[in-house]
Amino acid sequence: MRIDPKFSRTKMVEEQIVARGVVDQNVLSAMRKVQRHLFVQGALADRAYADSALPIGEGQTISQPFIVAYMSELLQIQSGHKVLEIGTGSGYQAAVLGEMGAEVYSVERIRKLFIAARTLLFDLRFFNIRLKLDDGTMGWPDEAPFDRIIVTAGGPEIPQYLIDQLADHGRMVIPVGNEKRRQQLILVTKEDGKVTETDMGGCAFVDLVGKQGW
Ligand code: SAH
Repeated sequence: MRIDPKFSRTKMVEEQIVARGVVDQNVLSAMRKVQRHLFVQGALADRAYADSALPIGEGQTISQPFIVAYMSELLQIQSGHKVLEIGTGSGYQAAVLGEMGAEVYSVERIRKLFIAARTLLFDLRFFNIRLKLDDGTMGWPDEAPFDRIIVTAGGPEIPQYLIDQLADHGRMVIPVGNEKRRQQLILVTKEDGKVTETDMGGCAFVDLVGKQGW
């Protein structure tokens, strides 16, 4: 890499994340630490700290740094929280959550991405992250309930399986929309069994493909 990764991360956090209002120190310090350039394919590594999503192969993308930070902040992660992620992709979002002290369970449906993420996260010694190759729209029933759920692909609805697997006092963030590559980011909360949905604004994710996706 021609640029210094640590300097690039500090700059990324200040200019793209703090500047846009993210204040959770746990999120900011995790994003200063996780080596995003390792999660991006070789030739693109120089652009790893740019203000954009990037291709990771198989027609999928690693999310823009700000989106990773924003979703992580919305989740209000506390150390030891059991967190389910749907859409492991590169493994970067899982690494940020793992760095924040969560017990991460992440599901990916594409075998090649699952294997690459598993190898990298093991090499980086993220032993608090477990991965599964499956259709994540059905959640991870054996490990439910989850304190937090994050879906990093967009489908037409909020899968009922995921609502059912969210613990009481739990929070979920999920992009939802009838158009592809154009969704609203929905924050779902559960308090004494009552489920509330709040629209947190527009976003653009790759397709959530599965039983309760596209
Ligand atoms: N969080 C990822 C973003 C990956 S893009 C990162 O940090 O890099 C979204 C990912 O969701 C893609 O890899 C795609 O294959 C995956 N995906 C789509 N539908 C899925 C499903 N039903 N179950 C699991 N993964 C799914």
